[in-house]
Amino acid sequence: MANEFPKCRRTTWADVDRWSDTIAARVRDLNKIPETIVALTRGGWVPGRLLADRLGVRRMVSIRAQHWGVTATPSGKAELTEGLSGPVDGHSVLVVDDITDTGESLELASAAVLKARARQVESAAFLHIGHSKFIPTYYAEEIPRDAWVWVVFPWNYWEDLATLAGRAYAEAHSVDGARKILAQRCRLEVPAADVERVILEARP
Ligand code: AMP
Repeated sequence: MANEFPKCRRTTWADVDRWSDTIAARVRDLNKIPETIVALTRGGWVPGRLLADRLGVRRMVSIRAQHWGVTATPSGKAELTEGLSGPVDGHSVLVVDDITDTGESLELASAAVLKARARQVESAAFLHIGHSKFIPTYYAEEIPRDAWVWVVFPWNYWEDLATLAGRAYAEAHSVDGARKILAQRCRLEVPAADVERVILEARP
């Protein structure tokens, strides 16, 4: 396990709106509106849909890459575990994910789109971590490599909380204790009701 209690940054829908606007504006400025958006399962779905809305793109295709298992726990190299859900040959394509960390997921997906004979392939991630080996064509914000955090996106909040609060609760044996661990080690401030909810839901 990389780190049981990673430093986290909880993000909001207002952040998401801002990142979407930033990326969409750049794509428009460069006159690069794609015919198809390929969204990575699962992190790229919400970003892909929001960009489709802002850019007027009506066609979306998905592709699945996996290697980050549970929250902040990388499990080996990324691999494509489900191919493109539809054709992209001859299309201009924007491949979208939420964040590039190792960059392997977006790199693999972009290569698959190229191999499927897309006419033009660009890529976008809301956030880009400086150490990523793949640099997306567009990103809204760079996280310096020495400022690595686990980003808690609004669409992953409950899943991330279940993992992290579950670990904290196993150590502290109380909701208050778990919240303290989350605040001090993960820098994640969460309401007691949210911790209670994930702990209750985890019970068989
Ligand atoms: P990667 O292939 O390492 O660039 O990351 C693949 C996927 O793992 C991303 O699309 C995210 O869904 C998730 N992920 C990786 N690193 C982070 C992070 N630091 N914060 C939140 N999610 C992450």
